Amino acid sequence: MAVSSPKRANIDDVVKKIVNGALALHEVEELLDPYDAVDARRAAVEQITKARLSAIGAANLDYEQIKGKNAENVIGGVGIPVGVAGPLKVHGAYAKGDFYVPLGTTEGALIASVNRGAKALTMSGGVTARVLGDRMARAPVFRVGGVVEAEEFMGWISANIGEIRKAAESTTAHGKLKDVVPFVLGNNVWLRFSFDTGDAMGMNMVTIAVEKAVEFIERGFPKARCVAVSGNMDSDKKQSYTNNLLGRGKTVVAEAVLSEAVLSNVLHTTADRINDVNIRKNWLGSARAGSMQFNAHFANIVAAAFIAMGQDLAQVVESSSGYTATEPRGGDLYFSVTLPSIEVGTVGGGTALPAQRAALGILGIGGGDTKPGDSSRKLAEVISSAVLAGELNLLAALSARELGSAHRSLGRRSR
Ligand code: NAP
Repeated sequence: MAVSSPKRANIDDVVKKIVNGALALHEVEELLDPYDAVDARRAAVEQITKARLSAIGAANLDYEQIKGKNAENVIGGVGIPVGVAGPLKVHGAYAKGDFYVPLGTTEGALIASVNRGAKALTMSGGVTARVLGDRMARAPVFRVGGVVEAEEFMGWISANIGEIRKAAESTTAHGKLKDVVPFVLGNNVWLRFSFDTGDAMGMNMVTIAVEKAVEFIERGFPKARCVAVSGNMDSDKKQSYTNNLLGRGKTVVAEAVLSEAVLSNVLHTTADRINDVNIRKNWLGSARAGSMQFNAHFANIVAAAFIAMGQDLAQVVESSSGYTATEPRGGDLYFSVTLPSIEVGTVGGGTALPAQRAALGILGIGGGDTKPGDSSRKLAEVISSAVLAGELNLLAALSARELGSAHRSLGRRSR
């Protein structure tokens, strides 16, 4: 529709136009400043749906910053409580020290659970964590004539990898192409591009870079046509064995050895009992269920950390994939979590929003403030250590038969 006098329309007129269908929700910012636009859209939605939205309007958000970047058709926000679990002692390659981990959740008992695990781990000398891999993947799918062309295409990609790298890296100062791995199914070829993305989670960065590489590839090998720049062999926001094997984002192991005394005094259990729960629940139970997840609740901690610290929430799907391994050592217990594809960043996306940035600040992370990659790897090590704390506590509570009582006292106060 034709728009005149941008930013100077009357809010009531704008609301009327939305309600009678003369103005689309996404056109409101053409007439009003971002704050008035949010109010007008919310008022219109209230009139149309008869829902009361004052609670959504009460959110304290910077709509100027959000506009065109973080969300569209905004009508307000929802508040999620953020608590901290800690201190959690971490001996990482990037995260070193005692951390209070910010967690956003509406699930009572979750933060308390991580907190008790953190106490047991810190009393045991802390968590050792390492980032063993760091790569963000994008896998365009190409159509070719058949298997002969597919073979020829893979040979061409291998012979031209230097030029492909140059094209891809021309779009970014921070993205560095690590490798391109082909996969074939009939007359379809996926090229799984993996990049080091510095402190960015990297999904936009990598997509833009791969689009440029695809242009070069289609010019040089016209028999292959790209059907989609994202062909699901990536796999973004979906669980996959590929991510578990090759890694996506950061691949992290966090581990600790808990003494018999800490297991008894803090967690009211023993190494053998936790190990038994881990094997029968996380391994046998998951195998019997056909689950790809050999853990108890990584998703709880990953989701809460992602909410608090501005990560892409849908990536909880693959970021919470992983394995819990235990080994009794006399009365002590070796306990580890392995997360093959935890996708986190400290610049870009939601990390720039003030509250999320403040939460990152609790960990001493200010964005891309050190050598590129160091702060995002620090974040991955801290979140994985918090996952270890939450996982340990849940298995301990199950083994001590304390789970129900914890939830009765912390999660059901109003019932
Ligand atoms: P982004 O906000 O799009 O870009 C971050 C940019 O920050 C980088 O491209 C880089 O610029 C710059 N930068 C500055 N300092 C840096 C440092 N120390 N390390 C790395 N980069 C630095 O963020 P993104 O991480 O690429 O993408 C995340 C966003 O993508 C999220 O909002 C997510 O929801 C969204 N997303 C997109 C897709 C998709 O398919 N496009 C899929 C899933 C999610 P240079 O590149 O110029 O170096």
